[in-house]
Amino acid sequence: MRTQYVKNGVLVRPLEKPATNFLSTRFYDGRRIVDVLDSRDATQVWMRTLSEEIRFPRVPFIPTDEQLGWLRQLRYTIESVYRDTIDGELAPASAHLQGVLDRVRIRPDIVSGKDYLQASWGDTSGDPFDDLAAEIAVTALIAVTGFPATLLRRCEAPRCVLYFTRYNPRQHWCSDICGNRVRVARSTRADRTAGAGNVS
Ligand SMILES: [Zn+2]
Repeated sequence: MRTQYVKNGVLVRPLEKPATNFLSTRFYDGRRIVDVLDSRDATQVWMRTLSEEIRFPRVPFIPTDEQLGWLRQLRYTIESVYRDTIDGELAPASAHLQGVLDRVRIRPDIVSGKDYLQASWGDTSGDPFDDLAAEIAVTALIAVTGFPATLLRRCEAPRCVLYFTRYNPRQHWCSDICGNRVRVARSTRADRTAGAGNVS
């Protein structure tokens, strides 16, 4: 299975938790930082694509401007929770995550699909926005606590803004793409240094 790929301009990371995929709505595409949450249309494409590829969110929808603003704020907060967790700043990580958990209505339930089960996370209203927010909150909680927290890393490649789960102790990058980018940059630097040596 590919660990990450771009489809419809959207970054898909099947092995990462929904909350980590939500943070990946901002990513470096090799030329610039793409931010899916910049527009309602792009956000809808993100939801539809991820829903098809990794079954998150369960029910894609077109967010209102207000909901989009709220999602941007939520991403900012969740990002700070991830960052603080990795940096060992546990008090702010805990306080910010608690703030999210207090605001979101969470009530896990099971929904039968045609040939698989799905979880619904929001309250009984079934509102897709509530469901999305609740799933992000719960999976962020899982990502930054217990054993999963020990595997959480920030990609070390230049300009990359992604977080990832480190399953292999030698993994320093979110993906092979970033790993290759770092190796190419290193060899270019080495070539330049060697070239400079020859001149002098
Ligand atoms: Zn990366």
